[in-house]
Amino acid sequence: MIVGEQKPFEQIVKLIERYRRVLVAGCGTCVSVCFAGGEKEAGILASMLRLEAQKNGRPLEVLEQTVKRQCDMEFLEEMTTKVGQVDAVLSIACGCGIQFMAERFQDKIILPGLNTKFIGVTLEQGEWAERCAMCGDCILDRTGGVCPVARCAKRLHNGPCGGSSGGKCEVGKDRDCGWALIVQRLQKLGELERYAEIIPPRNWTTSRDGGQRKVVREDLKEQGRIEPR
Ligand code: SF4
Ligand code: SF4
Repeated sequence: MIVGEQKPFEQIVKLIERYRRVLVAGCGTCVSVCFAGGEKEAGILASMLRLEAQKNGRPLEVLEQTVKRQCDMEFLEEMTTKVGQVDAVLSIACGCGIQFMAERFQDKIILPGLNTKFIGVTLEQGEWAERCAMCGDCILDRTGGVCPVARCAKRLHNGPCGGSSGGKCEVGKDRDCGWALIVQRLQKLGELERYAEIIPPRNWTTSRDGGQRKVVREDLKEQGRIEPR
């Protein structure tokens, strides 16, 4: 899932200070699971903004609405009425949801209330960790199912750097060395010989380096069911 966290409250207050009517727009999927931008968080944030405005004698009306996914046009349609009633929308979806809101509601100010962090997993309730850096050409079969792109600070592909110590990364002792994890896992699988196989230089055009990416289902295109943009 996409993991994010709300911007500091003071920053959010500053973001909306020029507006009198604001919609706090939540998203009911990823950012809801990480307690950052779901219905509950939208409600709490809206209440805090009302209280803050009241305390400082600032006229502010705050509406709130959460849809299932802000990265899907059909759900954004549900927000049309409320968006039409405000000066600005404070979206607490991930960066995709925020941008799609801006694309759907072209004449409306759309503000980001959340910092999008990474694609990750839930370690436990309240703790999430990055696992995939979306390189576009997965090599987990080569590395025992541990991603060197997301889990090695230097994105090394053929073994650890000299800073790996006691299974920890030199970047911070609070994080595991991705290559120590890879070796441990290959050992467990009885496939340590794979460690000696050289992973050739990657073609990073499949990653962000190739510019904005798109996935188009060719079968649906051929059937005329989608019109690629
Ligand atoms: S190799 Fe690429 S696609 Fe696979 S987990 Fe790592 S970043 Fe994600
Ligand atoms: S210590 Fe390990 S994870 Fe950290 S940069 Fe070096 S090889 Fe990568």
